[in-house]
Amino acid sequence: MLQFCLVTCLLVNAPVPRVPTPTPTPTPLPVSIDAVRSTAPAEGRPLLLELGDARVLCTIERVRAHGDERYTVSGRVPGAPGGTFAIARCRDALHGIVRIGTLGTWELRSADGAPLVTRRVPEQPTECTCGAHLSANGPAAPLLPLAGPGSDPDDGSAIDLLVVFRDAVAAHVGGVNAMIALIDLGAEENNIAWAASGIASEIRVVHMQQYPGPVLGLGDLAGTDDGLYDDVHVLRNAYAADQVVEIVDSNGGVAMGLVELDPEQQSRMFCQVGDGAIPNATFAHEVGHNMGCCHAFGDGGGCPSEGGLLFPFSNGHRFFGTSGAQWRTVMAYSPGTRFLGFSSPTGEHDGVPTGFPPDESSPGADNTATIDTSRVLVATFRSSQLAPCRALDLPPDAPDCNRNGMPDACEIEIGHLLDLDDDGVPDVCECPMDFDGNGMVGFDDLVEFLALYGGTCAHLPGAPCFGDFDEDEFIGFTDLVILLSQWGPCLD
Ligand SMILES: [Zn+2]
Repeated sequence: MLQFCLVTCLLVNAPVPRVPTPTPTPTPLPVSIDAVRSTAPAEGRPLLLELGDARVLCTIERVRAHGDERYTVSGRVPGAPGGTFAIARCRDALHGIVRIGTLGTWELRSADGAPLVTRRVPEQPTECTCGAHLSANGPAAPLLPLAGPGSDPDDGSAIDLLVVFRDAVAAHVGGVNAMIALIDLGAEENNIAWAASGIASEIRVVHMQQYPGPVLGLGDLAGTDDGLYDDVHVLRNAYAADQVVEIVDSNGGVAMGLVELDPEQQSRMFCQVGDGAIPNATFAHEVGHNMGCCHAFGDGGGCPSEGGLLFPFSNGHRFFGTSGAQWRTVMAYSPGTRFLGFSSPTGEHDGVPTGFPPDESSPGADNTATIDTSRVLVATFRSSQLAPCRALDLPPDAPDCNRNGMPDACEIEIGHLLDLDDDGVPDVCECPMDFDGNGMVGFDDLVEFLALYGGTCAHLPGAPCFGDFDEDEFIGFTDLVILLSQWGPCLD
């Protein structure tokens, strides 16, 4: 039974003078998870969570609205070193993680309004391999001045993310609403870890997008002209996302990593995070690699044997606290209990520094300084001033008639597709035989069609198949007849 935090809550109030006695502010009664499922409770309110046969009293410190019936609630678990909780709700779905130090980590989830399922999450020994192209350490550049949280996300006070996922992965986690809640949860835990470490920035998910087709590799996601997933780059520009994260159906993660302070590194800002690894803080871990962080010394997993990634001191840390428990930061592998924090010689957890300064034998462990430096560059990888699709505020399941993973409204906004009759539906979808989108089925369209003639659509299930008008997965004679029958102006 976990009743320790109930004790600490009784010790809060110091003695007060007897006269005059102001009317005491009544302590609000704790709310239950049902309150979070129906409405976002206010900050400062106690939250009583039932985890199996244990009950834990938490304190709500932050409520953040993301949209209609979509918000995150997070805060502390008093009495547990580094104890945190974060719960994300999106309409009928809810996903939460409760970390109670060495006592364990619990996951709460519900999709489609189903009863809440609570499970204890096992500590995973390893959860990540880094990109195969990690190069040598960058120079030990001086720390850049801290901008502090401000209004301009390009000043380093915010890192903007595009998060993509495949249809099948959304189904695996319980649907689109459950996927949105899971992504919001991962981002919230990332920001808890950054705030706890004193990093003057936060990540913002500026867009989520559902894609058809199968999950591909990280290189396919990052490649710009391999014919695989290339639309993701158009989408990244349209939403001005500094980094791109894909949620995949696995228990691991992989990132390319920031290896030097160079604008060219924008091409490496891709990572994949397994849905099953998010309770292990892998969202913050992979984003951490793309901010220049690496694992603890000797962990391997793609990190240099001599340590470091962006800087020689860009290392995670594992240590024993004053309680005798072994801990590990977000970037360090097991053993140890992971807490939401990054290594720093000036940070503290369970009475012990979370990192260490350089000396003759070691370059040190300071991933907090790594992120606090790289954030200024990474935030400029895409300019927030040039984000034509952001203001549209489209949901991940917005209409996508050509099934290429980009919402129709965004493609029209950036001129990717034409909408000459201005009805919100791309012309190519109103008249699929009009390949060049000029409102006419004519000779140019016939030439493009003949180039596809004899092909099949089986190579990318769910992807658009231009030329397959009868949807038999084959571009053949029937399709030619259909095209010729539509010869002339497209009809509304
Ligand atoms: Zn890693």
